[in-house]
Amino acid sequence: MASNVVQGKSKVGIIGSGLIGRSWSMLFAGAGYNVVLFDVVQSQLDNALVDIKNQLMKLEEQSLLRGKLTASEQFSLIKVTNDLPEAVKDAVHVQECVPENVDLKKKVFFQMDAACTMDSTVLCSSTSCILPSNIFTGLPRVAQCIIAHPCNPPYHCPVTELVPHSETNPAVLEKTKLIMEEIGQCPVTLKREVDGFGLNRMQYAIINEAWRLVTDGIMSPEDVDKIFTHGLGMRYAFIGPFETIHLNAEGTESYMERYRSSIIRVSNSFGPVPTYDGEGLASIAETMNKRIPPNPTELGKRRDWRDKQLIALSKLKKD
Ligand code: NAD
Repeated sequence: MASNVVQGKSKVGIIGSGLIGRSWSMLFAGAGYNVVLFDVVQSQLDNALVDIKNQLMKLEEQSLLRGKLTASEQFSLIKVTNDLPEAVKDAVHVQECVPENVDLKKKVFFQMDAACTMDSTVLCSSTSCILPSNIFTGLPRVAQCIIAHPCNPPYHCPVTELVPHSETNPAVLEKTKLIMEEIGQCPVTLKREVDGFGLNRMQYAIINEAWRLVTDGIMSPEDVDKIFTHGLGMRYAFIGPFETIHLNAEGTESYMERYRSSIIRVSNSFGPVPTYDGEGLASIAETMNKRIPPNPTELGKRRDWRDKQLIALSKLKKD
């Protein structure tokens, strides 16, 4: 990749250079932002730069690079630092991506808050499951704080859940929505915080029933997965549950006239939340471990395959 240096627009700070921090860096650089990526582990930062460069080049080869800049221009916009205040200083947006631990996130948010040099900086967390009130309450700049939870892999699954704290300034929500749209993400908003946000509440409802169908001896794990890969998932890549019901009858009211009683009857037969351990876990893990041995090589191969399929699907959706 020839090194082309471009003048970026405003600055974005990324705190934590793991899987998600790298993805956010690529997404913001793709839209022309100057990105400063911070980590407490120097080797993580070194590896992040190598990985980001490779990923950008691959995306360019596949004509899947976001934005108008070349891979080399986007890469030139990403700098790394081992000094948190340097990443936060004068940034319009700071995206926290440290491990999912409430005490660590709180500590990092206090550091980010103290390092802000502009009142308008938005302080944003990538947390998957920690409520805004558990991270942001008591911060001097709580009104500037919000969650933007991406879906993995963020480059190919653009939905991003925005979850404000009760004290978040509504203008901060609006600003975060706009910057997410600008970098090509698809923001959705929760009007108030709820455990699991929207995505994981729905995902967990599915995992609960999948688990019960297998541990109750009704279906095999392979056949449960096929319901998604050859059935529900085919539709859900293009239409959500509401559009599905609307199209599956003569509109939503007609669907409910026909199927209301079945939905209620079946839903009332759902069992309790599984404990996800013991014999059920041993048996499902055995099946899955045969299908994909849980070692880094085999998991890596399957993740690469998954990402290729997602890329093909994103291309199809774009067309
Ligand atoms: P990760 O373990 O890959 O990366 C975390 C990074 O944070 C590491 O590089 C680590 O060195 C660094 N770090 C640790 N302490 C730090 C500190 N005090 N300051 C700065 N950096 C620090 O984790 P990840 O998968 O990138 O997840 C990050 C966040 O994103 C988590 O909250 C996670 O729940 C959320 N998230 C993850 C996914 C996913 O599928 N991986 C999806 C959506 C959201």
